[in-house]
Amino acid sequence: MNLGELTEEFTKLGLPAYRARQVFKWLHKLNVNSFSLMSDLPAILRKNLEENYNITSLSIEKKLKSEYDSTIKYLFRLNDGEFIESVLMEYLHGYSICISTQVGCRMGCTFCATGLGGLSRNLSPAEMLAQVQTAAEDTGHRISNIVLMGMGEPLDNFDNVLRFLELVSCEEGLNIGMRHISLSTCGLVDKIEELIPKSPQFTLSVSLHAPNDALRLQTMPINRKWNVDTLLKTCRRYAKSTGRRISFEYAMIKGFNDSDQCAHELGRKLKGMLCHVNLIPVNTVKNSGYNKSTAERQRQFCSVLKGYGITATIRRTLGSDINASCGQLRGSLN
Ligand code: SAH
Ligand code: SF4
Repeated sequence: MNLGELTEEFTKLGLPAYRARQVFKWLHKLNVNSFSLMSDLPAILRKNLEENYNITSLSIEKKLKSEYDSTIKYLFRLNDGEFIESVLMEYLHGYSICISTQVGCRMGCTFCATGLGGLSRNLSPAEMLAQVQTAAEDTGHRISNIVLMGMGEPLDNFDNVLRFLELVSCEEGLNIGMRHISLSTCGLVDKIEELIPKSPQFTLSVSLHAPNDALRLQTMPINRKWNVDTLLKTCRRYAKSTGRRISFEYAMIKGFNDSDQCAHELGRKLKGMLCHVNLIPVNTVKNSGYNKSTAERQRQFCSVLKGYGITATIRRTLGSDINASCGQLRGSLN
């Protein structure tokens, strides 16, 4: 519930609006998981809430700390026994958390550990929020950035994700500004279109991973529904209309999508768009047969793109010793 809905709920119970604000503060700012600990509420109200309402929480099933950097990977257990992953990373500007939006994913990208097992279910807004809160509570760190790049396709859980973004960015809550949030999608064009009139202030990342249909179809089944040209056309409209730069994700797979020819094709297609390209050395997933491009290939690809006036960077790899990329830890349970 957002504060307005909680206030409405409390009004129905005959309670004043300030009680809703108190409870909201306990839940969102003070990170309390039990009504019994909300010490400024009358005992009878605490008992009533305890009996009739449920606070969503997660338990830490496994926690891995990188020995190379301060990255922490969590395997969280949900109330129904499902598992999801989140990764906490330290950057110069503070702590950033990568959260999951679904248990599994139904998009079936062939290089992705999450996609291997299909979709179990959507996460609720509270389960997304609880990932941020549990990691903050566990480490004592203030988390300033969020990326929706963990397990799942955020735009396939559209309403819950938008509700989560509202809760996490509201002033009475964690108050993490939209400009400190990134959302990554494999390219659900209908949902990107739906976002345009809302003019979101978060950063939209689009997982492109190939410059043309022939290659993209081999790794990303979503390309059958919306091809590269359709996706890029919508991205151009999005960038133009929102004034926000789109970040294209491009996982470099040795001998597959990392040639100079691919870089030129990508450069020609993205030229003039308000965008950035993030080159990611692909993480090898068991039995996928995909290998990372060499560092030299990455640099060369990057410089071809720059020739088209496109800003491109090679993503720094964090937590490589702890299976920190999406779906890898949950996959290792099986
Ligand atoms: N479903 C969304 C967000 C979650 S995946 C999406 O696909 O964008 C987050 C990012 O990790 C995506 O860019 C995805 O393509 C990438 N990814 C998945 N598996 C990967 C792997 N094995 N190596 C490198 N990147 C990977
Ligand atoms: Fe789903 Fe994203 Fe993995 Fe594709 S890369 S299967 S969309 S989580």
